[in-house]
Amino acid sequence: MVIDGRTRTCGLIGNPVEHTMSPAIHNFLAEKTGVNLAYLPFHVEDGNLEKAVAGAWGLNFLGLNVTVPYKSDVIPYLEEVDELAARIGAVNTLVRTDKGFKGYNTDMPGLYRAMISDGISVTGEKVLILGAGGVARAVAVMLAEKKAGEIRILNRTLSKAEEIAKEVNAMFGRELVIPMELGKWAELPQGEVYGVIQATKVGMFPKTEEAVIEEEAFYKKVKWGYDLVYNPMETKFMRLVKGAGAEAFNGFKMLLYQGIIAFELWTGKEICEELAAEVYASVLRETGTGKGESALERKKNLLLIGFMGAGKTTVGLKLSWKLRLPVEDTDKLIEKKAGMTISDIFREQGEVAFRDMETALLREISQRPYQRIFSVGGGTPVREENRELLKQCGTVVYLRLKPETVWNRLKGDDSRPLLRCEDPLGKIRELMEARRVAYEGCADVILDVDDLSVQECADKIAEILEEKA
Ligand code: NAP
Repeated sequence: MVIDGRTRTCGLIGNPVEHTMSPAIHNFLAEKTGVNLAYLPFHVEDGNLEKAVAGAWGLNFLGLNVTVPYKSDVIPYLEEVDELAARIGAVNTLVRTDKGFKGYNTDMPGLYRAMISDGISVTGEKVLILGAGGVARAVAVMLAEKKAGEIRILNRTLSKAEEIAKEVNAMFGRELVIPMELGKWAELPQGEVYGVIQATKVGMFPKTEEAVIEEEAFYKKVKWGYDLVYNPMETKFMRLVKGAGAEAFNGFKMLLYQGIIAFELWTGKEICEELAAEVYASVLRETGTGKGESALERKKNLLLIGFMGAGKTTVGLKLSWKLRLPVEDTDKLIEKKAGMTISDIFREQGEVAFRDMETALLREISQRPYQRIFSVGGGTPVREENRELLKQCGTVVYLRLKPETVWNRLKGDDSRPLLRCEDPLGKIRELMEARRVAYEGCADVILDVDDLSVQECADKIAEILEEKA
């Protein structure tokens, strides 16, 4: 990104801010959308909040994010507060207006958008919130707004759950929220199942072997489980939910979407789900989040191989979104390492040098201690040594397709040198036949993708991996 005289500034204020992932989210979004914006973290010491907000205003900042411990304390220094943020009583995003900053809460819309993306609807549902802290309060307001059928707040300290229930019931004019003591979960009505939102800090790194409710019997009541914790990516709560046969999700997409919604408010750009998936993959990659976790834990890496047009990149992105694992492209890694494009490597150093780079990269990947998804260059498996290395790197999935499908998918694409000839379909057939044995020889799984959408491919691969686990 080039910073020039027109670059607008956004940032995060809080204490501490040193472990934030927000710069990775916003600077990636700025680059992808072409918005001339830079995002920085600002550590604001206790007592300096008012000056920080006024200073950012005076310096013509486009906006700010606000994190702990200032989400409520910042409100008196704002020109205006959005209705939802006022109801929740916490602001995490400031947007510049003519006279000062307007405060929004994007945490809850972020959680809601994450749930929609994960296929979870709360309307009419019976939902349990575990915990009664600041976030649990906001979740209760969000669930009430989205017309959940029943909301129960279970907390270790009953009085805090009672306080939230009283406030939210008064806000919505009906007895929608029921407080309960956490330890008395067995008194929940028999035969009911619930969506459960885990909003305590229990299970967060480094105490990853704890869950707020440990008894397996509780998890028989769980229809789906959403843990707002995302470090680790798979919490003990999630494992218990999955163990009882229900779906479980972590809070990483909520974090991502609160950032995306803030970016949309600042810039007026709408971020589609495809770009959200790219940000997600990039943040996981840049921050190293999720190393060594997920369904692939015992399977090492997942490597997607196949001919051009098979969908290795797009399926890789979808899988990253689904399995919550970082995705990388071996061709891009080689370009980054070499400091030049693949065409330049071919032109200046020749194909053998490029294949040597692929081999060196695979050797490196096979020795890395953590798991990722890789979309692998189309020609990589041709070398026997590479096929052996691919197998050592992890589970190899061959996305197989017919030459006619390749041609249909790529015929408008002028960027493929291979297709610039008199008989491109004939050339595709010839090359695919030459590579067939290599692809099939190193694949653990072969998936025929001609009639599958990107989503269907990702779902099928995830299903196969789950069965193999
Ligand atoms: P908070 O205000 O400090 O509340 C903590 C809650 O956890 C309280 O209800 C507390 O119960 C309960 N708790 C703590 N230790 C417990 C234990 N050993 N057993 C049972 N309950 C226990 O925290 P918060 O700000 O609401 O944050 C809650 C969670 O949301 C955190 O894990 C945070 O990481 C997560 N979060 C995620 C995102 C995201 O983007 N994904 C954003 C914000 C927050 P008592 O009342 O009895 O003390």
